[in-house]
Amino acid sequence: MEKIMPVLFVGHGSPMNAIEDNEFTRSWINISKKIPKPKAILAISAHYEREDTSVTSNERLKTIHDFYGFPQELYDQKYDCPGSKKLIIKVKDLVKEVNFDTKWGVDHGVWCVLSKMYQDAEIPVVELSINRKLSMQQHYELGKKLYKLREEGILIFCTGNIVHNLMMVRMSGSPYKWAISFDDKVKKFVTARDDLKLVDYELIGEDALLSINSAEHYIPLIYSLGATNKNESASFFCEEIIYATISMLCILFESSS
Ligand code: ZN
Repeated sequence: MEKIMPVLFVGHGSPMNAIEDNEFTRSWINISKKIPKPKAILAISAHYEREDTSVTSNERLKTIHDFYGFPQELYDQKYDCPGSKKLIIKVKDLVKEVNFDTKWGVDHGVWCVLSKMYQDAEIPVVELSINRKLSMQQHYELGKKLYKLREEGILIFCTGNIVHNLMMVRMSGSPYKWAISFDDKVKKFVTARDDLKLVDYELIGEDALLSINSAEHYIPLIYSLGATNKNESASFFCEEIIYATISMLCILFESSS
């Protein structure tokens, strides 16, 4: 049997990473060299929220520039990659309620990172929406259903930011205490695989509530937990908090067998 694919959670941060060469983008490139080349990628992005559970179903996905006020160079970037009929059929098989969406393409949470990891845009990508109507527990359960895809060379690619509070961003100065505290707790709970704590994050305390002021950037982490076994290793990289309120933390989940 093929070795099971890892699961990746990436803190994507600013869209500017797409046109910058920095410690984060270099880490993303490094990780792409470390893991097996995926046959296709199933992406769960903070920026693809819907009122239902959908997958992008076009044969080719268009680059979406879903951000405002950035330099023209960033709007000129393209990552038009193939979709995958095969993969959407597999997802439909595992998640019966899934709908097909021909409107969405690849959003910046996905392409700003993948354009570094897989520059030629040849690996097929399907995005799975974050259904706003689901509870955290339901997101976690949905993540579990995706586990099987990993046995078929599919990379589950979750992209958000664990600490993400744009209301309190500051351009200089050190990270807020609550941001550091929550980021540390997440590392601790992920290492201990105390998934329930992370699913019920609202009970963790005020640091969690300030770090997750809207949950869409946190939810992709819940999918990465759902799609992995508790005995898999979790390694952290890009352990930095930028603009005082955005954690760039990335996590690679790998099975040893
Ligand atoms: Zn984002």
